[in-house]
Amino acid sequence: MKKYIFTIFAGLLFLQCVSVKTTSTKTIHDAQIKEINTTSNPKLFIGIVVDQMRYDYLIKFKNKYGERGFKRLINKGYNLKNVHFNYIPTYTAVGHTSIYTGTTPVNHGIISNNWYDKVLKKFIYCVDDANYKTVGTLSGGNKSPFRMVTTTVTDQLRLAQNMRGKTIGVAIKDRSSILPSGHTANAAYWFQGGDDGKFITSTFYMNELPKWVQDFNNSGKANNYLNTTWDTYYNISTYTETLPDNNEYEGIFNGKTTPTFPYNLSELRKLNGNYNLLKTIPFGNSITTDFSIAAIEGEQLGKSDFTDFLAISYSSTDYVGHKFGINAKELEDTYIRMDKEIERLIDYLDLNIGFENYTLFLTADHAAVQVPAYLNSVNIPSGYLDTKEIRNTLNAITEEHFKTSEIIESFSNFQVFLNKDKLKELNINQHEVTQVIVDEIIKHKDIYKAASAYTLQNTSFNSGILKTLQNGYNQKLSGDVLLIPFPSTISYSKTGSTHGSGYIYDTHVPLIFYGAGIKKGSSNKFYPIIDIAPTVSQFLEITHPNGATGKPILEVLGN
Ligand code: ZN
Ligand code: ZN
Repeated sequence: MKKYIFTIFAGLLFLQCVSVKTTSTKTIHDAQIKEINTTSNPKLFIGIVVDQMRYDYLIKFKNKYGERGFKRLINKGYNLKNVHFNYIPTYTAVGHTSIYTGTTPVNHGIISNNWYDKVLKKFIYCVDDANYKTVGTLSGGNKSPFRMVTTTVTDQLRLAQNMRGKTIGVAIKDRSSILPSGHTANAAYWFQGGDDGKFITSTFYMNELPKWVQDFNNSGKANNYLNTTWDTYYNISTYTETLPDNNEYEGIFNGKTTPTFPYNLSELRKLNGNYNLLKTIPFGNSITTDFSIAAIEGEQLGKSDFTDFLAISYSSTDYVGHKFGINAKELEDTYIRMDKEIERLIDYLDLNIGFENYTLFLTADHAAVQVPAYLNSVNIPSGYLDTKEIRNTLNAITEEHFKTSEIIESFSNFQVFLNKDKLKELNINQHEVTQVIVDEIIKHKDIYKAASAYTLQNTSFNSGILKTLQNGYNQKLSGDVLLIPFPSTISYSKTGSTHGSGYIYDTHVPLIFYGAGIKKGSSNKFYPIIDIAPTVSQFLEITHPNGATGKPILEVLGN
């Protein structure tokens, strides 16, 4: 009886809601169906993340881009020029998760790519999940998004449409495909290198690769890319925005003696992990576009009455930045070619989906630091630190003050994890240890800031680098003392660039919205990266992700 009354009540509520949009209650059923089928939402939404893309690449290489790639998005879409990551650490898994969940590690639980698990007392990788097996090859697929504890905008779209409308993730990196496409994805695919050279997935999504994926893997595309030579797209003499091709700040592929063009890939693959080489050159981005287009066709995305979501991440830009640094000819060429990939993708969408039927955003999962060795050469404060040496200093501190070097369980991601059992055994007060560590480690030449977990739990920082540290701090998962090195001071090789800090060079990334329903325009206003998912949710008129702390960017939505 109670249930019956509830049904009537719910029905009345429903009538009331619907009657706003219809004149007669008789047509409710038709109206309801119509509302679903003729939604003003695009048939396909595409999220594009370019791994390690600094905002200034849009400016620096502007004269090398064509009119139909990045510039088409900028000229016909809405270009947000001052968008930043607002937490530490700016790593790939954290970046993709924050873009799609609209919140920071405080809530979503992806605190790094790899981190020390306090409960398991071992290092874990963000998307590893032993409950699942590889689909498509023998290894590399035992993955799921379970460590991400909040929903993504892609989850919310599936929920809003009662699990109709497909979500597909595509990337070279597993984490960049799995985390954006969320808990409810139909599929996430990533590239397994080594001797495989195939796009694979996990039994979390399915038990067998669809025929279109098998066909793609059998097409020989990966092999074809590696049977070529990587030379510059334009004459190298025109690449005036970067350092000389042979400079001391670049890494060198095995089998080469200099970091210089051309790269004979069929030779180099033998000494550089076979298909792993493809991940680390711009053609890794090309095969990502190839596979994305195959996914649109294979899954018939954008062809149903519901909105589908394709989450693409271009990973190879990151590998190139890590190897050669942000000031290398190789990096410049990679972005010139990235521009062509955007052009190819947009051309395909216009022709096969139709401009009025799709909407997209393009952003990055973090930016990157200038090679510190180069910065040193031009007198900018920067440097390299040795994490082992910091760990030794931490042990020396506890030895001096507490007569033990056994209370630090792990030092990783610039976080100190204390051994709680040992503290108890030795009857040492945890807060006292963390405060002593903060007071002493701040004297270290490479450490700029130190804060205890206790401080981060009890102080509300409003701005600055300590606020970004606080935004990255997860009470259940993070360490007991968190350190911040000086600007441009990294734990890395003396060649190539990396990322991870809360400084501007790592936080400032592009964000462009483009396509059906998006205004033309640009803005210099500051927005945090966590505003993307709420903006997309608002645009699609769906519930925001359940942990979202960002706000919709209203100027993109036109109100
Ligand atoms: Zn990344
Ligand atoms: Zn990276």
